[in-house]
Amino acid sequence: GCFCKLQGEVDDCSCKVESLDSLNNNQIYPRLKSLLTRNFFRYFKVNLQKPCPFWTDDSRCALKDCHVNVCSEDQVPIDVKQNKQDIENKYSKEAQQDGHTCQEERELSALDTTLSESSKQAFKDWKDYDDSLDMFCEMDDEHSADLQYVDLLLNPERYTGYKGMSPHRIWRSVYEENCFKPSEKLHYGPDQDNLSNMCLEKRAFYRMISGLHTSINIHLCDQYLHPSDSAFGPPKWGPNIKEFRQRFDPETSDGQGPQRLKNLYFAYLVELRALAKAAPYLLQAEYYTGNSAQDEDVRNAVKDLLQIIRSFPDHFDESKLFQDHSLETLKLKMEFRDHFRNISRIMDCVGCDKCRLWGKLQVLGMGTALKILFSGNSMDPGSTVSADFKADFQLTRTEIVALFNAFGRLSSSIHSLENFRKLMR
Ligand code: FAD
Repeated sequence: GCFCKLQGEVDDCSCKVESLDSLNNNQIYPRLKSLLTRNFFRYFKVNLQKPCPFWTDDSRCALKDCHVNVCSEDQVPIDVKQNKQDIENKYSKEAQQDGHTCQEERELSALDTTLSESSKQAFKDWKDYDDSLDMFCEMDDEHSADLQYVDLLLNPERYTGYKGMSPHRIWRSVYEENCFKPSEKLHYGPDQDNLSNMCLEKRAFYRMISGLHTSINIHLCDQYLHPSDSAFGPPKWGPNIKEFRQRFDPETSDGQGPQRLKNLYFAYLVELRALAKAAPYLLQAEYYTGNSAQDEDVRNAVKDLLQIIRSFPDHFDESKLFQDHSLETLKLKMEFRDHFRNISRIMDCVGCDKCRLWGKLQVLGMGTALKILFSGNSMDPGSTVSADFKADFQLTRTEIVALFNAFGRLSSSIHSLENFRKLMR
């Protein structure tokens, strides 16, 4: 038995690791791998120039493998840029806002027709604030001149050599300042024993972040840069068993490695459930790129994938979290959202551009999953799209791209684990 051969239930879920291995490696991974090469999913709009909001003394890493090739204007298909999804969302948002405005005006005039402009503005600000409560991530500003498209296929997540103080400061800040902690002060967040002293919501938060960290580190072990075999040959990308052992073998990770690997399955289950829950919405999205044959293919591939996901019997049960409507629970939910939002801001402090790109994408994908699961809308995996469904719930193209690609990263990590097991046999 290799330490990476995990067994039994994923913690806090009624689902076995073995059934997830089988679902992912036989059904989900091959489909996602193909889907994510399509134009709709491969171009990600991101601002990699945003300054770090928390510290200023970190320089950007100059390592060759940290470099990101952004697309020039003419490299991105024009129809991807003028995405129907976003345009439709914009129109329906505007329609909603018009609706709000009428409602607001009625309310305001009923209150006092002499209300000043500043009071009206304050009323509007509160409305915007209420709308933003559903957001688990801070989104890049749509109007920033620094937003660029990146072709994800040309910039794969892999070993970059980003290590030392800079990533350690990021991870420390994520775990120590933004994950929930049990009472004692701990280095890099709680270990397994301490977790049991925390409530389910706080444990779930920690496990999702730890699962994401595991996934990032599995990718750098799986796509590691090996020196060339010959004096003049190119270096080669491939799995590095020593690096993998170093990070996940209980002997070299204070016994924490297998648990961190298990957290990957937890994060996977959360995003799997979000996809199942949002299926009615995702099934009616256009996946518009301007090429009608390819768009039809993508819609069919999404339908096929979502059918498999929806028929999985052991989904994560988000209704166990934030169960009652007490003030305490509401406070906890807001803290949960604020902590996650802060983590999305920390991603702008990552010193290596390639790591920043994938960090931002994966945190946005996870934040979108949380928005689907916890923003209070009543989507049911079995339901069909109702007439006003679109007005109630919105995802932008960037959120959809991030959600599928983030899930694709977790799926690829679970698939790589299988490969490491074989290599170590
Ligand atoms: P780190 O991975 O830096 O971990 C720091 C400490 O956190 C460990 O000592 C341990 O106590 C704890 N820890 C480790 N794993 C977990 C876990 N799963 N759960 C809970 N606690 C844990 N490098 C690349 O080569 N390619 C990339 O694409 C890449 N992307 C990155 C994205 C982000 C957002 C960040 C912050 C870093 C990224 N890195 C990437 C760097 C990489 O994650 C490591 O930080 C780096 O390789 C140094 O590893 P380390 O062994 O010092 O431990």
